[in-house]
Amino acid sequence: MTAPTEIPALTIAQVREGLAKRHFSAEELAREALAFAEAENPKTNAYLHFSPERAIAAARRVDEKLARGEDPGPLAGVPVAVKDVIVTQGVRSTAGSKLLANYIPPYDATAVIRLEQAGGVILGKANCDEFAMGSSNENSAFGPVRNPVDLERVPGGSSGGPAAAVAQGTAVVALGSDTGGSIRQPASFCGVVGVTPTYGRVSRYGLIAFASSLDHIGPFGRNVRDAATLLQAIAGRDELDSTSAFAPVPDYAALLNGAVRGTKIGLPREYFKGLASETGDLVTRGVEVLKRLGCEVREISLPHTDYAIGAYYIICTAEASSNLARFDGVRYTFRSADSATLSDMYRNTRGEGFGAECKRRIMLGTYVLSAGYYDAYYLKAQKVRHLIARDFSEAFREVDAIVTPVSPFPAFKLGEKLDDPLAMYLSDIYTITGDLAGIPCMSVPCGKTAGGLPVGMQILTKHFDEPGMFRLADAFEKAGGFGG
Ligand code: GLN
Repeated sequence: MTAPTEIPALTIAQVREGLAKRHFSAEELAREALAFAEAENPKTNAYLHFSPERAIAAARRVDEKLARGEDPGPLAGVPVAVKDVIVTQGVRSTAGSKLLANYIPPYDATAVIRLEQAGGVILGKANCDEFAMGSSNENSAFGPVRNPVDLERVPGGSSGGPAAAVAQGTAVVALGSDTGGSIRQPASFCGVVGVTPTYGRVSRYGLIAFASSLDHIGPFGRNVRDAATLLQAIAGRDELDSTSAFAPVPDYAALLNGAVRGTKIGLPREYFKGLASETGDLVTRGVEVLKRLGCEVREISLPHTDYAIGAYYIICTAEASSNLARFDGVRYTFRSADSATLSDMYRNTRGEGFGAECKRRIMLGTYVLSAGYYDAYYLKAQKVRHLIARDFSEAFREVDAIVTPVSPFPAFKLGEKLDDPLAMYLSDIYTITGDLAGIPCMSVPCGKTAGGLPVGMQILTKHFDEPGMFRLADAFEKAGGFGG
């Protein structure tokens, strides 16, 4: 068995090899990984709670398959962290909210079932901003997550816990969710790979809904191959989510063949203007690496970019106000005690249960949907969304992939933007367009600032071209040596 200190370095391939050569059993690895994660977790608060019984049971199933000579699956024995907005049967799933502090779901998300069928071992549930609303993980009802690279800084959000767990080495891969950047931005801040697949590529069944037309489940890994392997395991049509796509799932990992010469890459000028910073320099250097690999780089324009934040924060709050209406204290949530009437009970439960950011969004969303304002705000935002999506489809007639920064700046200090929601919203400027268009996009590490903070480069491709996106990211990772 590896010593606990060696666990952080493991990749999926190393877990596979360790099992094949009988250096450890899946159960031994699960026990070591759990012990290591529990010991390390107080530093970052990346996990909200662990699920040792479920982890050991999953690991034993892998060992039994191995003993019978059966294929234990592409994720056999791999320790995984799952964002706490993704439900797990019998394991508390809080969505980072006091309202769901004691919620034990009676069912599993489809992505969870699939990752366990592939042999994955869920160690526990990872911290996040409440109902996935935020960019710093400071909106969690259970305390912020600290960035393992610099404990005074945020890990990004809303999937701060999954990103931090992978960066800290307390999980090999993780599942997060992305509605407006919540996988890519924390991946960038923590120096790991984070992938938002095409909308509909992964079933949303069992993902606690924030903004259903924008919500995605996606993987984190310390390298591109691991993230691709996890995506492959969870992707594909699911009867339980009518928006999940029928398109067959390619063998992503097998397509990482380094053939990127001649790939046409577009740099949208709207994403680079005014980016005179270390982030801009690192992404520009990343683009030089792509050129050296034989990619043809040209400037392009995505002219409606400036309207993306406005459109996003109207659409996502509108959908959130509707989705969060179910948390009323009647069924599975926390219920405020001692209310005289039913409406007092609703009011008190929601007043005490939701944090400030959720309340802000519910109010904004209710407003933009209200009679008289619907056309001016919600309908208009939907039209803008359409224009943004069209910008991308037009660009993809000229280029195979688009490369941009992920965030205008690296990880900021805890508390730095807490009093300024607008500054927090502006940090999503480069990531929300991919969600609005529903196209695949990812963050791949492209170096560190002089202060040692990781910076991610974003790669976007057309709908269902995850293979092209992964191939480019993998070639880049190998050429630059920035990955894990
Ligand atoms: N930071 C964005 C927001 O607060 C994105 C959240 C997300 O992708 N879940 O809405």
